[in-house]
Amino acid sequence: MREGFRRRILVTGGAGFLGSHLCERLVMQGHDVLCVDNFYTGTKDNIAHLLDTANFELMRHDVTFPLYVEVDEIYNLACPASPVHYQYDPVQTTKTSVHGAINMLGLAKRVKAKILQASTSEVYGDARVHPQPESYWGHVNPIGPRSCYDEGKRCAETLFMDYRRQHGLSIKIARIFNTYGPRMHPCDGRVVSNFMMQALAGAPITVYGDGSQTRSFCYVDDMIDAFIRLMETPDDVTGPLNLGNPDEVSMLDLAQRVIALTGSSSEIVFKPLPVDDPLHRRPCIARAMEVLGWQPVTAVDEGLLLTARYFHAKRFGSAAPSAPTAVAEPANAAFSRT
Ligand code: NAD
Ligand code: UDP
Ligand code: UDP
Repeated sequence: MREGFRRRILVTGGAGFLGSHLCERLVMQGHDVLCVDNFYTGTKDNIAHLLDTANFELMRHDVTFPLYVEVDEIYNLACPASPVHYQYDPVQTTKTSVHGAINMLGLAKRVKAKILQASTSEVYGDARVHPQPESYWGHVNPIGPRSCYDEGKRCAETLFMDYRRQHGLSIKIARIFNTYGPRMHPCDGRVVSNFMMQALAGAPITVYGDGSQTRSFCYVDDMIDAFIRLMETPDDVTGPLNLGNPDEVSMLDLAQRVIALTGSSSEIVFKPLPVDDPLHRRPCIARAMEVLGWQPVTAVDEGLLLTARYFHAKRFGSAAPSAPTAVAEPANAAFSRT
């Protein structure tokens, strides 16, 4: 490691899906990583493989309460991300987004740390502009069941920009589009985890609405690359920056791909579309490509296969989460590809 390169890095929400991958990458790079999590949706399992590492530390803490630590960089990821989870206790979701942001910004201000916010494509709501560029202000219902998350994240962006303007903080805002991969919670209700678990169980695949709504799915490794590149940018780069994979698929198409990939005999069933479910979502990533020199490199089918291996291992207990390729020989051909 280069002299002076080793940094003390706080990852809030570090025991979650994205947070655990980020902690792992930063630990591998040799940084001192402090993972803070209240285990609301994250698990110790996700970071168990890091616990014995000298440059990794875990702290149980809720970011809605003040936190006094000394760090050089903060990745603020703490917040439930799946609609089922964030709607379970919506008041806590808003508190986490807003009070959590204030506390982490206060911390960043005191210790003069760089701080990156995990924002979301949900700030665009049920977008009327497609694909969504960062300049679009969005179409968000402020009083619906998704509002705790959407408006919480929008308010957090406001706070980040105001701490920048008012206190000169070095901030980075990442607008994350749907991201998937190993360590997603199997019961989080998100579409990739639902379809995978249903396909592996041979249970009906639940497509909401007529399945024509679209999303654009980014594999987790690509997203972590983007986070780290964004954190490395000069101070005048604040974002917001869209991060995601512009490869757009309908939910019906996704269901069919998952069935094919897993060799499942599941049938597709149609269920009501949730309230305020965005119809189309695809990031315009021109700005991220230019500023970060980044674009996703994992094709959706490749990422889905790696994810299917993870869920297979989870369901049948045949491999550690961090080693998706170590799954015992499965019954269908797709899993035996390497
Ligand atoms: P996740 O639910 O797996 O992880 C969130 C983590 O935050 C969990 O470990 C949870 O226990 C922790 N947490 C929640 N509230 C907390 C609190 N008050 N104090 C401390 N820890 C708390 O979700 P994820 O997919 O890893 O998402 C991580 C971040 O990225 C979130 O901020 C989310 O809004 C954002 N994001 C994710 C996606 C995606 O597709 N995965 C898309 C857009 C934005
Ligand atoms: N804060 C924190 N850790 C710190 C410094 C501040 O958690 O190291 C919290 C503190 O509780 C405060 C919030 O961050 O409520 C905002 O701090 P700031 O200094 O911006 O505002 P103030 O303290 O004036 O409210
Ligand atoms: N969805 C679905 N079946 C499921 C879960 C989700 O058809 O079992 C749909 C959902 O209605 C939405 C899309 O898949 O249109 C993505 O949902 P998810 O909860 O993963 O994330 P969102 O992008 O809505 O936050």
